[in-house]
Amino acid sequence: MTEESHAAGVLHPYIISQQPLTMSWGPSSIKSGAFFAWLVVTNRLTGDKTFSTVSFPFIELFPMDLPSRFLRSLFHLLLPVRCITCAQPLYGDPIPFFCRSCWKRIRPLTDPACIHCHRPIISPIGEQSTLQYRCGPCRLHPPAYQRAWTFYAYESPLKEAIGQFKYRGKVALAKPLAQLMLARWTERPILDGIIPVPLHRDRLREREFNQCVLLADYISHHLHVPLYLRTLIKTRSTAPQAGLTRRARLLNVKHAFAVRHPARVEGKCLLLVDDVFTTGTTVNECAKVLRLAKAQTVYVVTLARMV
Ligand SMILES: [Zn+2]
Ligand SMILES: [Zn+2]
Repeated sequence: MTEESHAAGVLHPYIISQQPLTMSWGPSSIKSGAFFAWLVVTNRLTGDKTFSTVSFPFIELFPMDLPSRFLRSLFHLLLPVRCITCAQPLYGDPIPFFCRSCWKRIRPLTDPACIHCHRPIISPIGEQSTLQYRCGPCRLHPPAYQRAWTFYAYESPLKEAIGQFKYRGKVALAKPLAQLMLARWTERPILDGIIPVPLHRDRLREREFNQCVLLADYISHHLHVPLYLRTLIKTRSTAPQAGLTRRARLLNVKHAFAVRHPARVEGKCLLLVDDVFTTGTTVNECAKVLRLAKAQTVYVVTLARMV
């Protein structure tokens, strides 16, 4: 079987393992609630090709647009799928794995917020403050990034959506999650490149994809701004930041990132993309090394924030 004679489709450039990969595929068989296909993955950077057979459970086959929504509804009738949060059966809901009403419950963070780290201001003093308000931690330790945008509260059902996307490999959620980010991001600066917060190679091997790369890839296509892959790399594995003291968090990520191609970032306005803003230490460390490599400005966007 040659790739050309049997190619049934070429998927949108698809990023796994922080490499730009194009997948060609063709049908093979349908059995046990799954669709089997042959697959040729081409690395656009190196030209390497990998041949394999893959299976897709029906529910993960059809992501978002209208014709596929119709087909998904059809499959959902045959194989009922339930919303991850409320367990209601899903029939034709636009977001995979979530019902319409649960998805609408995702809570946006509203202004006023710190002009650096976007921490929501909840104190009465803060509410009376001007647009130039800086939160205490940012005044004490100004971040290396120019500005961060964090869009939604890290709570149910978004928390489940991120968990399923990140740890359960439900990559069909990349597009609706990236769309959530773009929907709230109205004041966009002019950018030269987009950089996803990298994973260490051990973690990447374990998870098989970097969720930040998938989000950044969608944003990059939507904004027509190039995606800089493997420009910023993680040089060692680190423990999760949540629950550590400020000092421990700083030590945890210190020297954990490096710029692989400094010439690529020099003088550039860059956007770092991360999924969850926990304390900001990780994105700040990334911004620090990018600034050391002479990046002109570093901005940060994250989908959700621990509140
Ligand atoms: Zn639901
Ligand atoms: Zn702040």
